[in-house]
Order: sequence, then C-alpha cells, then structure tokens
Amino acid sequence: MELIIKKLSDKLRYKSKIVISTHVNPDGDAIGSSMGLCHYLLSKGHDVQVLVPNSAPNYLMWIPGAEMITFVDKNKRKARGFIENADVIFSLDYNVFHRVEMIENNLRASRAFKVLIDHHPEPEEADFDLLVSNTQTSSTAELVFEVVNALDPAYSSKAFAEAIFMGLVTDTGSFSYGCNYSSTFLAVARLIEMGLDVEDVNRKLFNNNRPERLRLLGYSLSEKLEIIEDLHLAFISLTKQELQYYDFEPGDTEGIVNYALSIKGVKMAVLITEKDSLIRLSFRSKGEVDVNEIARNEFNGGGHLKAAGGNSYLSMEETIEKLIDVYERYIKYK
Ligand code: 5GP
Ligand code: MN
Repeated sequence: MELIIKKLSDKLRYKSKIVISTHVNPDGDAIGSSMGLCHYLLSKGHDVQVLVPNSAPNYLMWIPGAEMITFVDKNKRKARGFIENADVIFSLDYNVFHRVEMIENNLRASRAFKVLIDHHPEPEEADFDLLVSNTQTSSTAELVFEVVNALDPAYSSKAFAEAIFMGLVTDTGSFSYGCNYSSTFLAVARLIEMGLDVEDVNRKLFNNNRPERLRLLGYSLSEKLEIIEDLHLAFISLTKQELQYYDFEPGDTEGIVNYALSIKGVKMAVLITEKDSLIRLSFRSKGEVDVNEIARNEFNGGGHLKAAGGNSYLSMEETIEKLIDVYERYIKYK
C-alpha cells in the first residue's frame, strides 16, 4: 500500500484533469465512493468530473455535489470529451471496463494514468496503471477513505464523510455483512470526527420511501416468493407489467432479495426483474454458494461470493428454468 500511495501522491502533485468513473446501475457504494473521492480531489484544486453510466436511485441523490455528476446515457459527447482530456482516470467499485458500458472503449483507449479502487474479486489488472484492490473490506468507499487518509491524514470534510458513509452503510446492509473488520469501524469513527451525523444520513437513505415501493415489496413477498425447499433456493420474479403497476423507479427493488435470503434453510436467493431488453438477476447467498461463480459462468455477470448480478436474454419462464437447472448442476458438482 505504501508504494501505491507514493505513486498516486506523485501523480496528484500537480493540478490535473481527473475523471472518476463507476459502474452501470450505480448503487450506494458506486455513488458514495465516487463523490467522496471527488470532494477530496476538488479540495486539492483538481478539475474533477464524475461519470456515471445511467441514472442513480433517488434515495442517493441528496449527496452533496450530486449535481456535478455527468450521466453518460444523457450526455455521451460531453462524457467522451472529459475522458479524452483526462490526465488521470479513477475506476471505482468495478473490476472490468465493460461494467461502464457505453464509455468502455473510450476508457480503454485513453492514455490517462488509470487507477482502480475496488473490492470485487479478480480485477482485470492489465487495464490499470495502479490497483487498490482488496476484497477483505466493507466497500469501495472504505478503500477510498483509506487512500485519502494515507495521502492526507489531516483532511477533514463533512461532505466527504457523508459520501463515504453512504457507500459503507449501503454495501454492508447497515453493518450486517461484509464488515467484520476493525478498520471499518475505525473509519466510521474518523468520519464522525469529520462531522458525519449517522442518524441524519440513515434517515435520508432509508426513511424516505415512496409508498409504492413498500407496496411492491409487500406484493413480492406475498404473491411472488417461490421456495424450492429441497434445493434450498428462494426466488422472486417481477415482470415489466408488475413493476409498472407499482410505478417502479430505480432502486425500488433494492433489498427485496435479502428477505428471500433471510428464510431459514435458504442458501441462495435470487431476484429476477424484467427490464426493457433483458432480464436482470440479483443473486445473494449466505456464504456456502459462490454466486459470483454462477453469475459469471452462466449469466454474463459477476460480483462477490455472497452478492452478484447477471443478465439473461431469454423469456422470464426460460430464465427461471435455466436458473433452477444451473443451480441444480452447481450443487451436484460442488
Ligand atoms: P446487485 O444484485 O445489487 O445488482 O449486485 C450485487 C453485486 O454484484 C454488486 O457488488 C455489483 O457490483 C455486482 N454486479 C451486479 N451485476 C453485475 C454484472 O453484471 N457484472 C459484474 N461483474 N458484477 C455485477
Ligand atoms: Mn461495492
């Protein structure tokens, strides 16, 4: 880490044009880690652009500086211009360039100094000049905290603290998994010293639901939850029509899969949602089943051991059939 920080510190010695990029369908860690790093770099006088492939759920958009974000799907040319002019590009909360979709080739082609900060397994190392890659951490936001803390131990900012906490609290399900590290809690202690109000941020993130979201949750659990007991598998499928009926907005289905996983005996839970041109699968496991492997090998996706996402281009029925088939084979050969 010391050598990495030395190299990064050398790179950031002079005011630079910096692009921060994160993954498609951004979650709290994608937005939180990006905005945290953005606040720090702005405080050092750099010219910073944050590129996000598509829109973020509303419950994240109160974060200080959110109005600075360039959403690539709505501003393709502008985003490509920022990449062309960049001296340094940060890749946050993703491990392979195809996770940024529309700007993948622009990022690959750029001759900027490329820095990965991420906690997903098996990053594509060859694509980066510098890697801060660690799976034994709560979140990318925590890694950003560590990097900033090493670069500038005296740095303190409430906006930075709120952004880092956003990533940390959302990626750990409010400190219920992936956070059994003293470093995580020491980081939070430092964020509080910087002015973080934990209760205030939690309220903004989690107590701002639209009633439609809760009705969709209720419907999912009472009408759409399927459990295959002998396979220890639970899944919920939602069609486009069902989502439309509940006035779906991005982020509304977040967390639903965890209810399915919470069932006694269930080893893997999957939320299957129909999008415009594909079907998204959101996998969760309690640790015995490697959902990263299943998502990566069978559904064109990836993620972590216990949380991963994937895509299917089949119909809903065929996707469910394939899921059961793939999972049966997985447990048979494990
Ligand atoms: P979610 O189910 O919440 O969308 O995603 C769970 C985890 O898997 C997140 O850490 C996310 O970054 C990762 N993930 C989701 N979808 C994909 C995908 O299509 N490819 C890869 N490589 N990772 C994904
Ligand atoms: Mn993350």
